[in-house]
Amino acid sequence: MAKKFEVKTNEQKAESLVAAIQRLLDAGVAPWSAKYVKQFSAANGPRNFASGHYATGGNVFMAIADSVERGHPTCEYLTLKQARGYKFAKANRPLKGEGFSLYFYKPLEIKNRETGETETIRMLRMYHVFNVACFDGLPVREVPVVVEKPTPTLSEADTAMRGDIAAMGVPILDTPCDTPHYVPASDRIGMPPLASWESAGEYVKTLGHEAIHATGHDKRLKRGLDARFGSPAYAKEELVAEIGANLLCVYHGVSYDQKNSAAYCGHWAKVLRANPKILLAAATPASKAAEYITERVSVGGRAAPVAIAA
Ligand SMILES: [Zn+2]
Repeated sequence: MAKKFEVKTNEQKAESLVAAIQRLLDAGVAPWSAKYVKQFSAANGPRNFASGHYATGGNVFMAIADSVERGHPTCEYLTLKQARGYKFAKANRPLKGEGFSLYFYKPLEIKNRETGETETIRMLRMYHVFNVACFDGLPVREVPVVVEKPTPTLSEADTAMRGDIAAMGVPILDTPCDTPHYVPASDRIGMPPLASWESAGEYVKTLGHEAIHATGHDKRLKRGLDARFGSPAYAKEELVAEIGANLLCVYHGVSYDQKNSAAYCGHWAKVLRANPKILLAAATPASKAAEYITERVSVGGRAAPVAIAA
């Protein structure tokens, strides 16, 4: 019987992801930037065109990387099997080796030889997919109209963010400091004065980064925040905070100009070269961390900020 899926190892999975992301970072584009996450969310995916399922974890960035790299307006995709009956579009016909791979864990039941009991293991499976722009004549989908939230002012963004952070029970020091930071030992955030920020987007991104770190505290999502500076675990937590902060920017309806983009992307390109699995490892905890904050907001409402002296 022909193999239905090609099973790849974690190493192979990381390699193909990294190749796509690395090309983007080298071109000065971080695919987790709020700009792209916003562009390819809600109406535009990343999602499977046939099933409507949204991509999660590292697959989000695989799909975004492909759309950004090839200039596709949406981030919806199909397997060749799902696209049976449709021809490749002349303008966007994929060349050999194009398209991109998505990875899913499928539960697989196996019999334990020693105990005789049936156990469920997680099997990694790969699907090769193509953007819908590669095909001609696909049915037209009703695209839901996305109502844009008005962009908050710096002061509105500050109030909203402080409410979210207070809902987590994390104080922000009353005395502004020079460098934004989160200290796990005291579970507190320090921020420079509000007047020093040029835009709501930069502010939300920066305070969001520290708030995402705070979700990793042992009282909350327990990511283990005691990694040594410069270690792989430290780099992973930084990437979790970066991706999570960008998700919070989308949630708050703000964006920002990525200053020093080449230096920023160059830094992450270097980190990815040293540790190809880091993006896969960081993507899911980052979205869980952002959800931890935004779900508390939607369920419990925003709490009043906790005043605390430095
Ligand atoms: Zn950080």
